[in-house]
Amino acid sequence: MSYELPELPYSKDALAPYVTAEVVNYHYGKHHAAYVTNYNNLVKDTEYADLPIEEVIKKTYGDPSKAGIFNNGAQAWNHTFYWHCMKPGGGGAPTGPLAEKINADFGSFDAFKDAFKQAGVTQFGSGWAWLVLENGTLKVTKTLNADNPLCFNQIPLLTMDVWEHAYYLVYQNRRPDYAQDFIDHLINWDFVSQQYAAATA
Ligand code: MN
Repeated sequence: MSYELPELPYSKDALAPYVTAEVVNYHYGKHHAAYVTNYNNLVKDTEYADLPIEEVIKKTYGDPSKAGIFNNGAQAWNHTFYWHCMKPGGGGAPTGPLAEKINADFGSFDAFKDAFKQAGVTQFGSGWAWLVLENGTLKVTKTLNADNPLCFNQIPLLTMDVWEHAYYLVYQNRRPDYAQDFIDHLINWDFVSQQYAAATA
């Protein structure tokens, strides 16, 4: 089924100064929009046309002959997820069951934050840092290019885009500063907690 570019859950300048309106205009308005358009064009009239995008991502992963569908589909999904992982005045710390689970699986919230930042900073080239649930355990992972945890039987709970287009206009080469600001000022823990609740319901 066709995939639509989602409405942003906030105004284009709401995440400034970390993610500015200029960044959103390129990242959402050009990059994300192009992935969505390309995906819809590529699956049209194929066996994938009527499948949910999550199924298409899992079915085409690792098949070189389907790389166009996979890359554009996964990037369309990843970016929609990414926008929802942020909010104006975000950051802080989770509460409730997710907070307890983070303490149980990482030892402390600070240990989680260190691991998540490290994953984003050390992803060589383009990709994503993730908090995922795998077999009932929270893990921090990183993926290359368009790769998505759904391909590895993991449930994505939180992601940070570390492609240069996500931060270069504001931070240039300083990816660690972008990652730190993402953690301290942008993460929408309400959204992440909702993903955790749905994954464990
Ligand atoms: Mn991106």
